[in-house]
Amino acid sequence: MVAYAQGEMTTEELDILFDKAVSDTIKEFEATGSPVVCDGEQTKPSFATYPLDGLDSLAADGIIIPFADGHTRQLPRLTKGPFRYARYAGSYLTRTKKFITRPLKQAVISASAMSLLYPPEPLPDYSRKEFLSDLVQEAVADIRSCFDNDAYQVQIDFTEGRLAVKLDPSRQLLQQFIDLNNQVLSHFSVEERQRIGIHTCPGGDQDSTHSADVDYEELLPMLLTLHAGNFYVQMASEKDPEKALQIIAENLRPNQRIYVGVIDVTSEEIESAETVRDRVLQAAKYIPLAQLGTTDDCGFSPFNDDVVTSRTNAFAKIRARIQGSQLAYEQLK
Ligand SMILES: [Zn+2]
Repeated sequence: MVAYAQGEMTTEELDILFDKAVSDTIKEFEATGSPVVCDGEQTKPSFATYPLDGLDSLAADGIIIPFADGHTRQLPRLTKGPFRYARYAGSYLTRTKKFITRPLKQAVISASAMSLLYPPEPLPDYSRKEFLSDLVQEAVADIRSCFDNDAYQVQIDFTEGRLAVKLDPSRQLLQQFIDLNNQVLSHFSVEERQRIGIHTCPGGDQDSTHSADVDYEELLPMLLTLHAGNFYVQMASEKDPEKALQIIAENLRPNQRIYVGVIDVTSEEIESAETVRDRVLQAAKYIPLAQLGTTDDCGFSPFNDDVVTSRTNAFAKIRARIQGSQLAYEQLK
């Protein structure tokens, strides 16, 4: 991607490399035995910025997100309206579909994350209200594009949920984020919402986090008021998983399924199948089996320049997740 951006590679050459990256990833992912797979977002610039690729209405100096290890990520800032996505997540699936044989999950960025693009000072000809209305429409179209391209499940990345509590301990910002995302979800049928999930994590970039110090208790009850059927919840790296699971149990609704994070993506140590099994058994003490699934805590490389975790390690961790989940299921069924 860097060589292409610098004009050292043609679109055709990039396409060949993209095909190989996606087909290799899917092949390895399917070989782990995972019942649902994705393309590893191999061709997205990042989990958050793919809708902005090539837009001319952005400046570089938007909100800065500091991570615990001292590194930062900066979002762009919107300079003019109207706001439109340059690209929908479903468009990536035309390539993915060529190689995949299992049910497919596609990730999209949340409307609440994109809402951070609007500057603190209102734009002269484009109010925040107009922006949010356009944003909801685009976020709906983004999810719809995934279903239209055969996604079995769509995951909304909501990493800024926990961060919102850090930015505003009164939790008004979190409530605004949830209201905005619920507005997006209201455009889908009950059946479709059962195929839509929300991912929460304290950040997982370069093996570091942005909001792990925020008490999960501040987030989880409100998180479960989102009108989605599935929740992909970071848990393996959590300091006090029992407490978090207890809170989930108290707030869980009948039509919600919790995919508990059993793989710590910020650690390079590969979990044993037994470690994973024990994490699932712990979760099963709180969450009914029919509403319990497993997942990795977060993406292994949410930004395309994050190379801290090797592909070999990532797939070894996914294999441990599948094997450990199977061991737990044998005991629980
Ligand atoms: Zn995450």
